[in-house]
Order: sequence, then C-alpha cells, then structure tokens
Amino acid sequence: MAEDKLPTRAEDFAEWYNKLVLKADMADYSPVRGCMVVKPYGWTLWENMQAGLDRRFKETGHVNAAFPMLIPMSFFEKEKEHVEGFAPELAVVTHGGGQKLEEPLVVRPTSETIIGYMYSKWIKSYRDLPVLINQWGSVLRWEMRTRLFLRTAEFYWQEGHTAHATEQEAREETYRMLDVYADFAINDAAVPVIKGVKTETEKFAGAVMSTTIEAMMQDKRALQSGTSHYFGQNFARAFDIKFLNQSNALEYCYTTSWGLSTRMIGAVIMTHGDDQGLVMPPKLAPIQTVIVPIYKSDLEKSKVMEIADRVFFDLKTAGVRVKMDDREGVTPGFKFNDWELRGVPVRVEIGPKDVEKGSVALARRDIPGREGKSFVPQLGLAETVKNLLNDIHHSMLKRAIEYRDANIHDPSTYEELKEVLAGGWAFSWWCGDPACEAKIKEDTKATARCIPLDTQPGGTGTCIVCGREADKKVLFGKAY
Ligand SMILES: [Zn+2]
Repeated sequence: MAEDKLPTRAEDFAEWYNKLVLKADMADYSPVRGCMVVKPYGWTLWENMQAGLDRRFKETGHVNAAFPMLIPMSFFEKEKEHVEGFAPELAVVTHGGGQKLEEPLVVRPTSETIIGYMYSKWIKSYRDLPVLINQWGSVLRWEMRTRLFLRTAEFYWQEGHTAHATEQEAREETYRMLDVYADFAINDAAVPVIKGVKTETEKFAGAVMSTTIEAMMQDKRALQSGTSHYFGQNFARAFDIKFLNQSNALEYCYTTSWGLSTRMIGAVIMTHGDDQGLVMPPKLAPIQTVIVPIYKSDLEKSKVMEIADRVFFDLKTAGVRVKMDDREGVTPGFKFNDWELRGVPVRVEIGPKDVEKGSVALARRDIPGREGKSFVPQLGLAETVKNLLNDIHHSMLKRAIEYRDANIHDPSTYEELKEVLAGGWAFSWWCGDPACEAKIKEDTKATARCIPLDTQPGGTGTCIVCGREADKKVLFGKAY
C-alpha cells in the first residue's frame, strides 16, 4: 500500500507527477520504450484542448488537412540546418513488405519537409496565398529520457504550416498564433503563460525567429507550452516554394509553423495539481461535475436517487459535463477521494437530509475541506454550478499567477542571480551575447526561456553577466 501512496509535492515533485499520471488514469507506459498510452481520461482532456484550439484556429482563418507519416529521407537532407538539429532523433523505416527500401523513409519528427514539398506544387501565384493549413496528428522523436506527457518518443500535437506573400504577413501570422496559444492557455487551461521571443541559441533550428509561451510549474521549472516560428524564406528556398507576385516576378514565399502538444497536459497537471491529486481547470475538465448520492437504506436510496437523477438531467441539459457516481459497494468517502484524485472541479453531494431540505452540498476541488463546501438550493442548481465553475477557473488562474510572480526575481548582481535560479526564475538585463547566456547555463543549468514581449521596461540597463549595456530583459529559469 505504502508504495502506491501519492507522495506530497514537497517530498518529491517528480515522483508526485509520475505517480499521479498513473493513479489518475491519465496515461500508462507502452511496451515500446519511451512511448505512452493515453488512457480515456487523459485523452478526453486532450480532446477538450483540441476543441478549444481548433475553434480558435478556424476563427483565424485556418483549415485542417492530413499529411503522411512517412517522409523520404532525402527531404531531410535538403535543409541542412534542419537535419542537423534533428538527425539523432529520427526514426527511419528501412524495410517495407519484406523488402529493403530503395530510399529509407523517416517517421515524421515534424512535417515541415513534406508540407514544403506539397506547397511547392500547390503554390504558383500570389492568388494562391496565403496558405493557412493545420494538421492534428502525432510525431516521433527518438528521445533518450522520457516522461509521460512531458517528453515521449511519440506524442500528439497539432502543427500549423502557413505560406505568405510578404514578410510582414508571415511575421503577423507568427504573433497571431502565439496570441492564440496564450489565449487558450490562460482562458481555457487557467495556465498563466508569458509570451516571448527565443534567443538565437534557443530558437528552433532553421527558424529566423521563434516565439514561445512559457509557464511556471509548481517546482518552479519552466515548461515551454507552445511555439510559433517565423522561417523567413529559408524553408521556401529549401523546398522551392515560389510564386508569381503581382508584378509577375518569381519570389520565394515566407513561411511559418506553430505547434502545441500533449505536453500541455503536463502543464495543467503541474500548474494546478495538489497533494490530493489533479485539479482540472473547469473549461477543459473531462468531467466538470460529479454527483455522489448518499444513502443507507433502500428507502433512502429511492428518495435520494430521484433527486440525483433530476439534478443530473438539469446539469446535462444546461451543458455541464456531469457524471453520476452510482457505484454500489464503495463508500461515499471512497468516491470523494477518487474524484479528488482525478481533479473533478465540482462535487455535488445529495443525502436524505438534502432531499428533505431541497438542498445539495457542493464541494469545490480547488479549495479542499470545509472551506470549499457550500449548501445550496436544488432550485436553480444548474446556474449555481455554472457560476461556480467560472469562479473556480478564475481563482485557479489567480493562484497560479500569484505563485509565478512570487517566484520571478530581479537580482541585482550575478551572485544573486545564481542564488535566485536555484529556486525560481530571474528577469534580468542581457546584452545579447550568447557567451553570457552560456555562462548562466553552465553555472546554474538555467536557460534563457524567452525575451518577454509584454513586460519589457524599455530603455537600457547593464547585462547581469558582463555589465555591458543591454537593451532587453530576459527570463532565465530551469526548464523541462
Ligand atoms: Zn553580457
């Protein structure tokens, strides 16, 4: 029993995470090393994430398509910068139908190359632009050290790939999708993220500019939760994506790509979870409300179930994702713990006394114990629950923002920076020299997470490492 117990976050954050993913039925290990099996509860969360993102993609003019998983090896050799960054992570198919293949095929680590190839066929004139395509799927990267949802060989994601006639349009697209990701993270997942630009060292191989949303987990490590890249004409040159512009001259397209993966599930778990288990953000929760009927005798049961069934119907009709826990042979206490572990935002308890009083007990997951409990009338319950779900979202977001902000420091010396980075992030002036960035990494294992877009103080300061003049402040932190 003891080894099955969930450790507290303070005891062992990494073990708390690993055990919680398994115990809450989110995912399991696969017989293939480094791969994961996403269980229905975890997959439903991912489906809700997909829905929130897909709606936003379509609102911003994008369409979905599907590109093949197998990509000719030669495609990866066309873009040297790209293949250098990826080569060790590639999984290669050498045989098919019992025969050695003439050309090995790569299981896509990302679809840039095959999409670039297709775009070169599809795009002929400025009238064909912009192309705004997204794909939902999985990719494979031969990762050596893996953890469920955070880093697995195969993971699920979406990858958007767009082509434009001008640099300005493509840059706007890059930022637009960064905004979409931030909006989703904050307003659906209640995960406060910081939007920023990656340094040259940290940017995606082959990109002119990489942007990111960075979130702080409860162990104060950063989780890169989504990225949006501007490629300039690099990929268009490599894949010959040309168009006739309005003056009838041939020009290379400007392209972007952007992706968000099942890593976001890890972000949700590590931003909100507590020592009792998951705390699901209401807008994404697979189950938003669980009803636990409480009774002892058959007579009580028939009275309680009548109300419980009606409450279930009312909530379902009102659009709440509701579950009735009418399991026999387990105590209400067991059910409470079980749903707490799974992080269901609101629990409705209905017992014989509630039937008499025309009330129910509501327990909110984000505030454990008595403090999070209230007794409310059955009348208008659907509205009450919907309001409560909304409250929970905002209080989870507020708590996460406060936690993050309390752990971002502004050290005044390099020595202080090193101390700060042992247990938090630093927001510091940086001169732009990769050598200063590298020194921080060497001394502290922290990396430049991003150059935040919204919180630059303006003006100049002195680089936290070398003391030279600096015109930007950078967030440094240890990352997943
Ligand atoms: Zn410097």
